[in-house]
Amino acid sequence: MKFSELFTKTLREDPADEVAINAKLLARAGFIYKEMAGVYAYLPLGLRVLKKIEGIIREEMNAIGGQEVLLTTLQDPEIWKKTGRWDDAVVDNWFKTKLAGGGEVGIANTHEEPLVRLLTHYVSSYKDLPLALYQFQTKFRNELRAKSGIMRVREFIMKDLYSFNRSEEEFKEFYEQCVGAYEKIFDRAGIGPITYRTIAAGGSFTTGFTDEFQTLSSAGEDIIYIDERKKRAINKEVYNDEAIARAGLKKSDLREEKAIEVGNIFPLGVRYAEALGLLYTNEQGERKPAVMGSYGIGLGRLMGTIVETHHDEKGIMWPEEVAPFQMHVIEIRNQKIENRNVGEKIYQELTDAGIEVLYDDREEISAGEKFADADLIGVPTRVVISEKTLAQNAAEVKQRSQAKATLVPLEKLRYATK
Ligand code: ATP
Ligand code: MG
Repeated sequence: MKFSELFTKTLREDPADEVAINAKLLARAGFIYKEMAGVYAYLPLGLRVLKKIEGIIREEMNAIGGQEVLLTTLQDPEIWKKTGRWDDAVVDNWFKTKLAGGGEVGIANTHEEPLVRLLTHYVSSYKDLPLALYQFQTKFRNELRAKSGIMRVREFIMKDLYSFNRSEEEFKEFYEQCVGAYEKIFDRAGIGPITYRTIAAGGSFTTGFTDEFQTLSSAGEDIIYIDERKKRAINKEVYNDEAIARAGLKKSDLREEKAIEVGNIFPLGVRYAEALGLLYTNEQGERKPAVMGSYGIGLGRLMGTIVETHHDEKGIMWPEEVAPFQMHVIEIRNQKIENRNVGEKIYQELTDAGIEVLYDDREEISAGEKFADADLIGVPTRVVISEKTLAQNAAEVKQRSQAKATLVPLEKLRYATK
């Protein structure tokens, strides 16, 4: 992509109405646009990152046997009444709306109920299970406060997977596979080393404990107690002797930290299957309810978390797999006439080699401004072409996370990505 063709502009100043670092940097760099409090649009750069995150999650969900679906945003109140979750006292962040001809519909805040009912039409025998279905779908939540930039919003895309098993044992095996998939996702997103599997309380309708994935960050809304060596943690909301013992941890090994909940997984038991009639006939001919789990990751929450944990005073520092581009090529426009097309040619060659390049071809912008924009946008590898480097048939290459630049011959440039 050519910088001159991007419709977004970088801003030198932080937006006055943002407090969270993720929102300040992402807005300044042109990744997001704030529509209103807790509601953000994703612009070309931001959408590229969101799609990278989606791609990683999709690969890991498919790897554990997930099948992708897309459920609806408008939801039938009747099924929610059956589980007791239509009640605003039970689920306090519903958006609901009225139909023109009378009657109400729900606007999706999660999808357990509709998916369970859907499956009653397809599952009848033990041979139809196990199943794991997932989607990337917009959730609407009437959050009381939206103050953490894109990490706590009223409209966001969630990856939600739901598992259906024939027994508690079969469920537990899948649950642990999903833990493994989550660990891979967070590793690939660059936050693996600072993300902890954390024992937490259940939400509406979960019994017992759940597992959260919490990323250490001063921007976090949660307090957790971590065992750094064992890489496990306990959320403050359930921090007691029982939870500590359950996690196999010792109080003296634990340290208090602030953290962001990037994802979570819930054992749901048979409550939904019983309430909505998701039964199957087992090998003995008995009718049994499916054992269920649900597994969520907020894509924007994850993107915001990456920014909160990967930036410096100049801007964002994207981990490679989620970066909007792999290379940011800057042409310093001081060349002699005969070199005028070199930047364009290098951009084409790198693109043809399969590298995702942001090419800063802007004419009227100073080298200093181009460097500042590159630091703000945070592409992992920066390539500078100038009259000076071209004299040596080379370009200057610098990683965003490092201070030192090296000179790389033009024909080797394609191997210079991080
Ligand atoms: P929280 O405790 O942060 O309010 P939750 O426990 O309600 O979240 P779930 O309903 O389990 O979250 O949602 C799964 C995932 O969706 C969360 O782990 C998080 O990544 C994301 N998420 C939840 N609420 C929001 C929100 N308001 N804005 C952005 N992402 C969210
Ligand atoms: Mg939570």
